[in-house]
Amino acid sequence: MNSPVRVRFAPSPTGPLHLGGVRTALYNYLFAKKNNGTFILRIEDTDQTRFVPGAEEYIRESLKWCGIAPDEGDVEGGSFGPYKQSQRSELYAKEVAKLIEAGWAYKAFDAPEALAEKRQAAEQNGTVWQYDAKTRLEMQNSLTLSQEKVDDLESKGHAFTIRFKMPEESTTVCVQDEIRGEINVLSEVLDDKVLVKADGLPTYHLANVIDDHYMQISHVIRGEEWLPSAPLHVMLYEAFGWSPPKFAHLPLILKPTGNGKLSKRDGDKGGFPIFPLDWTDPTSESSSPGYREQGYLPEAFLNMLLLLGWSSGDDRELYSLEEAVQAFDLNRVIKSGARFNPDKTLWFNEQYLRSGDPSRWIQSLRDLGEEKMAGWTDSQCAHVLNMFLERVQFLHEIPAIDYLFQGPTSFDEQLIKKKWKAETGGYLTELAAVLEQLDVFNSASIEAAFRGFLEAKQLGFGAVLLPFRIALTGTGGGPSMFDFAEFLGQEETLSRLRFGIEAIKQ
Ligand code: GLU
Repeated sequence: MNSPVRVRFAPSPTGPLHLGGVRTALYNYLFAKKNNGTFILRIEDTDQTRFVPGAEEYIRESLKWCGIAPDEGDVEGGSFGPYKQSQRSELYAKEVAKLIEAGWAYKAFDAPEALAEKRQAAEQNGTVWQYDAKTRLEMQNSLTLSQEKVDDLESKGHAFTIRFKMPEESTTVCVQDEIRGEINVLSEVLDDKVLVKADGLPTYHLANVIDDHYMQISHVIRGEEWLPSAPLHVMLYEAFGWSPPKFAHLPLILKPTGNGKLSKRDGDKGGFPIFPLDWTDPTSESSSPGYREQGYLPEAFLNMLLLLGWSSGDDRELYSLEEAVQAFDLNRVIKSGARFNPDKTLWFNEQYLRSGDPSRWIQSLRDLGEEKMAGWTDSQCAHVLNMFLERVQFLHEIPAIDYLFQGPTSFDEQLIKKKWKAETGGYLTELAAVLEQLDVFNSASIEAAFRGFLEAKQLGFGAVLLPFRIALTGTGGGPSMFDFAEFLGQEETLSRLRFGIEAIKQ
């Protein structure tokens, strides 16, 4: 029997979550749910120098907004905790000691200046220097120094790092990637990466591999930027005597132009967010916009991310989260970079606003409308949604439509010049008299009366409808004026009509 599927999203709380990070979380979530597995949130906070206050809360809030809740984590609990690396130091110390014992790691006492010197000298010769199986014998480490010297340096409190010891004899390291197939690398090109820093804290590589093993992670699904680290991770599994998880490296997210990685600057330039939620940097106080605050629906944001690197193979584009769980398959994740298209997110937002029963937006509309809509009934809200959902990209555009709340007080001269003739006022006065007679004032009865009036007067639709619209809304376009007049009610419709006739005298 296969072992259970356990996957993790392992962000470092070094700033806000980029939309690429949310995509990684989403694909992990989908894969877990599809396979009746477990989705784990692990906070990789070993790099204290890059810790940013509020970042962890931001990550949690983002996942919550998207509706991709972890099954296990620091807050959720679980039997594989703690789920924060800063609380797992003892485990890392114990495990790295085993590596040293088995000859897979060693202590390196070289001062940072000594390393810098080596790098500089190589650079001057047009080469690159790395600490590896060939060069380590020229350096100050527990492989070149006597045991007495090592003990002496340690007892004097000399700072040291612990490095991974790549084999002397080059071997082929094989990374099995679910998306990219088999990737082979010769160990001789790999350097002796630092596993424990001079401050005693583990590096990403060490902590990540130990945690994935102890948390029984079956599949490591992460961004392509981690692919170069995968051979070292495979070597670490071998050194520990553990079998590696399966790997899946997700494609890079590219700029809208397709040239290079999508960055925050692209968002600033193109006027679209690259973070799920608003973020204010605690040090610089500079803030960046988020999808949530811009009015995007989480369904639309997630659907956009789903298709940013994955496709079902047919033309289908709209997926609810549950449908995405059913359809998702790691084999259909693309290998090449995924080009980001900001317009697509807008398109998804429109689709989600318009699909389904409009009345499900009543509460959101009320929240956005605040005191302006405080006195509105549910049926008024539903009426407005029916009229406007087809015409907006975001729900917040609706409460910003002034003529929903008050009639126009002034009129655009250009519009009037073009559309308001000398006889218009007279027609509208007669129309008002017809509308006043209506006992039932709804869209259908208003339309019937309107058409009857045109027929009786032998007038074309355009001659009266547009002035009617201008009087009621002050604008030249918008929803059906019969629906809108019903929404206003008889009294308000007539009052706006009469105000317009008076105010616009050509
Ligand atoms: N902490 C790493 C990050 O910030 C995790 C990489 C991985 O998933 O292995 O992306």
